[in-house]
Amino acid sequence: MISQNLFREAVQRGYTNVQLAGFDIEKPDLIDMLEVESLTSEEIFANQPVVEFSKCRFCGVCSGYCVNKAIQFNRFVPSVTLIVARCCACGNCQKACNRNGIQMKEKYVGKIVQGNLVQHHLIAGELDPESEFQVPLIKALLERLSPESICICDFGPGTDLPVSLALEQMDVAIFVLQNTPDWEQHLKAMITLTEKCNILSGLVINKSEENSSFSVEVSEYCNLNSFPIWGVIPDFGDLENNKDFDNTFNPEVATLPVSKIWNSITQSHPILQLAYNETFTQY
Ligand code: SF4
Ligand code: SF4
Repeated sequence: MISQNLFREAVQRGYTNVQLAGFDIEKPDLIDMLEVESLTSEEIFANQPVVEFSKCRFCGVCSGYCVNKAIQFNRFVPSVTLIVARCCACGNCQKACNRNGIQMKEKYVGKIVQGNLVQHHLIAGELDPESEFQVPLIKALLERLSPESICICDFGPGTDLPVSLALEQMDVAIFVLQNTPDWEQHLKAMITLTEKCNILSGLVINKSEENSSFSVEVSEYCNLNSFPIWGVIPDFGDLENNKDFDNTFNPEVATLPVSKIWNSITQSHPILQLAYNETFTQY
């Protein structure tokens, strides 16, 4: 919802070339929620390593060559296990195996859909329900982002490898935090990811009031860690199941908080304002 309203905000502020990109590939609901025209769909395939156990001698060499830690080796069982969700299809493990124990096999990953949204461009990935091969689809999306556009990218929850890989290509990250029992753990992971990706980042507190105990606690935590808070969005109820909200995607109710978020980012970061006029491409 926030990304859609940021998209609308950008359009309202006069940016003529804005792209809304759906990186929440496991829950690709942008397309269903919005009135997208002229939809096209492209199937994405990628090479996934498959261990041939008839040739494998369980030496563990392949595991050491995988920078993403996508191969788990247990010498005591022994076993070699691929964690597909961490694999980027680089093929290094295959090259490392001198037993020819790994084959790269082409797999269907999912699709990328594109279309028009109020004269702008929408692009979104849809991971195949049978697949966990997320990274190739994220990479395919990144390759298709328009370099001339302000790209507002909608990410799913979490700070795992596919998210961090994509964030490294962004200019600004807005993290959204809600009041859950483990919010501090999530916030810590967000801040760590920000430092790793080295991008301009800030926090939006969602479904809370500015003076609530949750907002105050989060503010104290952010102050201690020098992490900016860019906005607080009140709880507007269950908008995801509100058909009117979904069809119009720009109700008055969400305008003000998102506008404030946009202002607080640009006001507190002059470089970003400059970048709007110059080379700012992704959001
Ligand atoms: S490098 Fe080859 S032989 Fe060694 S564990 Fe990996 S797949 Fe098996
Ligand atoms: S293809 Fe690359 S990322 Fe995937 S398991 Fe092999 S070395 Fe790791």
